[in-house]
Parts: sequence; C-alpha cells; structure tokens
Amino acid sequence: MRDMAAGPRVLLKRLRELMAEPLEPQARLDRIVREIASNMVAEVCSLYILRADSVLELYATEGLNPGAVHLAQLRLGQGLVGTIAASARPLNLSDAQQHPAFTYLPETGEEIYNSFLGVPVLRAGRTLGVLVVQNRTKRVYREDEIEALETTAMVIAEMIATGDLVRLTRPGLELDLTRPVTIDGLSFNEGIGLGHVVLHEPRIVVTNLFNEDSDQEVERLDTALGSLRLSIDDMLSRRDVAFEGEHRAVLEAYRMFANDRGWVRRLEEAVRNGLTAEAAVEKVQSDMRARMLHMTDPYLRERMSDFDDLANRLLRQLLGRGPEDVAASLPKDAIIVARSMGAAELLDYPRDKLRGLVLEDGAVTSHVVIVARAMGIPVAGQMKGAVSMAENGDAIIVDGEEGVIHLRPQPDLEAAYSEKVRFRARRQEVYRELRSKPSVSRDGVKVDLLMNAGLAVDLPQLADSGAAGIGLFRTELQFMVAAAFPRAEQQERLYRDVLDAARGKPVTFRTIDIGGDKVLPYFKTVAHEENPALGWRAIRLTLDRPGLLRTQVRALLRAAGGRELRLMLPMVTELGEIAQARELIDREVRHLSRFGHDLPNILKVGAMLEVPSLLWQLDELMAAVDFVSVGSNDLFQFVMATDRGNTQLSDRFDPLSVPFLRVLKQIAAAGARTGTPVTLCGELAGKPISALALIGVGFRSISMSPASIGPVKAMLLETPISELKTFFDDNLEGPSAQLPMRALLHTFAADHNIPI
Ligand code: PEP
Ligand code: MG
Repeated sequence: MRDMAAGPRVLLKRLRELMAEPLEPQARLDRIVREIASNMVAEVCSLYILRADSVLELYATEGLNPGAVHLAQLRLGQGLVGTIAASARPLNLSDAQQHPAFTYLPETGEEIYNSFLGVPVLRAGRTLGVLVVQNRTKRVYREDEIEALETTAMVIAEMIATGDLVRLTRPGLELDLTRPVTIDGLSFNEGIGLGHVVLHEPRIVVTNLFNEDSDQEVERLDTALGSLRLSIDDMLSRRDVAFEGEHRAVLEAYRMFANDRGWVRRLEEAVRNGLTAEAAVEKVQSDMRARMLHMTDPYLRERMSDFDDLANRLLRQLLGRGPEDVAASLPKDAIIVARSMGAAELLDYPRDKLRGLVLEDGAVTSHVVIVARAMGIPVAGQMKGAVSMAENGDAIIVDGEEGVIHLRPQPDLEAAYSEKVRFRARRQEVYRELRSKPSVSRDGVKVDLLMNAGLAVDLPQLADSGAAGIGLFRTELQFMVAAAFPRAEQQERLYRDVLDAARGKPVTFRTIDIGGDKVLPYFKTVAHEENPALGWRAIRLTLDRPGLLRTQVRALLRAAGGRELRLMLPMVTELGEIAQARELIDREVRHLSRFGHDLPNILKVGAMLEVPSLLWQLDELMAAVDFVSVGSNDLFQFVMATDRGNTQLSDRFDPLSVPFLRVLKQIAAAGARTGTPVTLCGELAGKPISALALIGVGFRSISMSPASIGPVKAMLLETPISELKTFFDDNLEGPSAQLPMRALLHTFAADHNIPI
C-alpha cells in the first residue's frame, strides 16, 4: 500500500519546482494538470477559471479533448463545475452523470468518465476557479485524496492571484479577480480613505504539532504568556487608547482574558498531552470555536473574536513574529479588510499608515469599530464578500460617508474621490472656522445645532464640532457594548464623564431604548416578535421592568448632582406612560434626598415624539413635559408605514414630502403655542437640505451626528429665515402643495445661494 501522506508531499514538491521553471503560463498549467493526474492516478485533471462575467472557462486539461481548452464554458451555478464554484464546496461523485446538476459538454469528450472529484480553487474564501479529477471506474475518492486536491488548489490559487494567468486571458475578457467591484454596506465611521488593501489574516498555520519534552514546552508556553501580558499592558498605555472610554474597557477585557486561569489551564493540559505550545493554542481555540459555533448571540460572537485575537497574539509570540513584522510590510496607505476583527488587533497597525477599515460583519457598537472611532479612521461595515473579492495590494476606496467601498476602482472614479478628499479637507477647514461663529441665520434668527452621541468615544466631538450641546445621548449603547447589565456605578461614571465633557452645555439623556432591533444578548426579552418595531421596546419595556429604569434614573440623578439633568423618554405612545415614569423619577429624587445626596439643581423631563398617536394630543403632550424631541427616524417609519431598516424601501418615500412636512410643522407650531421647547433628533436633521426644511417649518433646535454640524451651520448662516417661512406658507398649504417639495427647496436654495 502506498504511503498516504507521501502522495501529496511529492506532488506539492513537484508543483513548487514547476512554479520555479521558466515556462510560459499555458505550458506551466498543462504540466501542472498532467502532474496532478499522474500523482492522483486519475485519467483526467482539468482546471476551470472564473471570469469576471461569471463564466468558468476550461484553462487546462489532461485527459479531456485538448481542443476544448478556452472553449468549454459553464456559467456559475451551471453543471457540476458551476455548482462547486457557486457553493465553494467539493463534490465527490462515483457516478457523475447521475447528479442532477450534471451538464454534458460534448466538446470535452468526458462522457466516458464516471467518477468525479472537484474542489473549488479558493483564496481567502473567494472562489477563483475549480479543479477537477475524473476516472473511468465508478469509485469514491478518499478523504486524503480530497485533501490533497484541495491543497493543490491552494497552490494554484496563489498562481492565479500573482497574475500569472492574466496573460492567458483572451483580449476583452477579464478574470473575475481583476474586475472593479463596488459593495454597499453601512457607514460605521465618517471619512473617506483611499489606499491599498491589506487583508487582515489573523490565522497562523501551525505545522509543528508534537513536543519532545512537555516540561520544557510548558515553560515555553508560560514565557510566551508572560510576553503576551506585557504587550497588552504596553498597548493599554499607548497614547491613543490611554484616555477613558468604552474602547479602553474593551481592551481591559483582553488583559482579563490573558490572565484567565481556565484558558491557561486548558493550554497547559494540551501541552502535557504531547502537543507543542502553538498546537495547544490552536486546539484550545478550535475547541472553543466549535462550542460557540452555533451561537448567534452577537455578544458571544464579539467575545469569540476577542479570544481569536488573543490566541493569534500568543501564536505570534511563540513563533517569534511580532506586530513589528506587520507594520514593516504595510503600505503607507493601508486599508484593512477583515471579516471581523478583535478590537486590539487594529492597534497592531501603525496609525500613521492606516487610511480605513472595511468589515464584512460588525455593527456601530462592535468593539473594533469603537476603537476605530477613537483612532479617527473611516469605517465601512456589513460589506458582504469584501474579503473574498479583495487581494492584498488592490487599490480601494472606503467611503465612510455613504457606507460604500470601491475595489480596484476605475481611474475616473479614483480621480473623483481624490478630488472629494481634497474638497472635504478644504471644507473641514471652513467648518473649523465656523465653529466659533454664532449659530444664526442670515437674518439673525438663532437655531441651536446640537449633536447626537452615545458612547464616551463620541465626546471629543462636542468641542471639535462646535455643537451647542448633546441633543440626544443614546444611553442604550453602553448597554449594547457591555458583557452584562452595566452596574449602577458604571452607568453613573459614564453619565458623569458626559456631563464633565459637556462643560455646562446642555445634555439630553434618553433612557434606555432597547427592544426592537436593539437587543441586549444578556437580557432575554420576548422570544420572537412578529413586528419588533411595534413591539415590546423602549419605555414600554422599561416601565414593565422598573428595576432597570430605577437604576438608570438613580445613576443619572447622582451623576448630575449640582447640575442640570435633562431626561428623555423614548417611544411614548400615551400620556399615562409619562406620568408613570415621572412617578418613578420623583420617588428616586425623594429617595436620594432622604439620604442626603447632592441632587440636580434643575430636572427636566421630556418625551420623544416617535409614535403618531401623540399627534392628536399635542397640546396635552406639551403640558405633560418640559420638552419634546421628535425622533424622525421612527416617526417617519410609523407615519409612512415603512420599515426604517429595509434597504429595499430606503429611498421609496421622501420625508421632505407634503404630508410629513405638515406633520412636523404642526409639532413645531404646538411647541411655539404652548411655549414648550421642541427639537428634532433623527437623521433628518443632519442633511443640509432637510435641515433647511426643518427650519422652514419652524424648528429652532435640531440634533444630528457631529460630522453634520459644519455643513448644516454653513447652510444656516446663508439662509434668510423670513423668506424661507414665506416659501413654506405658500407651498406647503396652498394649491401647489402637491409639487415635489424637495425639488422646490433645491430651487429656493440655489436662488438664495444657500450651500446645501
Ligand atoms: C429616532 O427614532 O429618530 C431617534 C432619534 O431614535 P433612534 O434612531 O435611536 O431610534
Ligand atoms: Mg427612535
């Protein structure tokens, strides 16, 4: 019997030799497929390559009709080869023609072969082609043969990626690998980055499996663990992370994990069982991953990537590869592309070379995103397929404003973006100059421009943007990034930090708005809701779980001792909810004062106007609160019956339409009539054109993302509000009210030289 491991080893050695020989690409491919066929005792070996037009083209074959090379073609998903490419999984068939996907290509002459083994040619998870062996006899290929063919496919992937095959491609056709690609996702941090792809590949392959001397190996492991802990301490003392905030808490968790007795014990055990230290790290890590594989819980997934990160750091320590190696080989304009990433891994890349971050997964609250925001780099997330589409060194643009990436952009797009970056830089300069200017219209009407925030990392933006205060502090974000309910002291510390950072500027804290799409993994709510947006969320949930609200209110009252506290209730549907919340707040005030605590010197309670029911009781609402803030994201979704998270509908209905603007106008009017301050804190406030509309219908206070303050202020300074008011009186109520308001507003802005 032949040595099972010798086959692949001999083959790989032969392939390496073939790679080094001075051969033309086609000749090299022909030799490769011949070599594989003979090594695997197969009558046929063929290689199909995926083109940019989603066609798999036969590039080389041993055994099939040589005349079919570059002619035989299958679409992605068509035939066995197309199925393998589309699913990125091998197919092992003893009777290929019986398979439902089998497609007969007469030019190949393959009808005489029965058994079929095909594997995808993968690189970083992306399918570049398919490698096939076939035999006449009906046989099932063994596991080791599948593995051997997969390993061979990896070598071929390398060859494709290095560009060797491009020369074989007929003029006018492109390999899939070189095609420009645009991917739409989400914006996780503002900014635009132009640069070159650096695939974040945390996986380190361990080849040395068994130790010679367990005691010595345990010692090696301990030394590496010691250096790992030191390197984490170093990281924590770095200037860009040393200041307080969630990012720091996230990194502190690493320190905790690195000292985790259970983890260290499992590692040592594996070494005692005969593994090398690095193989032990791999094993413990893959055991853990297997245990967590089926967990959909976002928190646990986040923790898993922290642990993966830690394990990789330990591997690097053991193999003597430091982060310096990463830094040295980095282009000066690196854009990191990753599926997901541990927060600390980002810090291994030198800040001065980082131009952006692209994640396939992630959310605004992912740990790595929080760290990226603290470092001030543009981040685009939910970029499905980015890792497999990108190659190291590819040109790439990250548009953190639109949440889009452009891979291998065409020169004109790249030029347009370079111009956009220059323009942005100039504009930022202008906005910086506007920061200290009073926020008034051209005709002297004051409009407060506030910012939205939710985490400590957002706070420096308050000074940077020149915002008049924080109009919406989304307190639930602290809950969303935490491992468990933040303790009362942690909540209080954050609120105190926020108020300290605000230096007397007003801050409106919204009580936790969870439920719906904002889930806390450690808090089990209703198992399944048919309509979560209309479900048990926000104030509904916190009134039913008063312990939660009470702890938060107490933390807020204590943090605001001697200062003003503005509390805002989310998703109010009926006035009774406000009364109930007030009762709870009053009880907490009495409780704290009984124990002699320093209380806020002013306490204001407001409601968010997000549910349409309140529109028919505006005066009563205004009487029941100290202020109202319109949550236009939710209000629009409910008024128009359009899911705010459904991308299919995202541009379908316009908030700058007659009905919605009339709704907003009524709210502003009710505020003015009753002398109740009214603001608006949805995304609508952040675009100059819609902010113009808000001011036009009567809002004198709006709250938006910090990056929007500059552009909105630039618009405000040039806007004659009295003329704008007339414009709305004429167009929103009169006979022409059916005209598209957005278009009319654009004309108004152009006529009055208003930058929007
Ligand atoms: C809103 O609904 O407009 C709002 C500001 O709240 P959130 O986006 O957090 O739901
Ligand atoms: Mg809302």
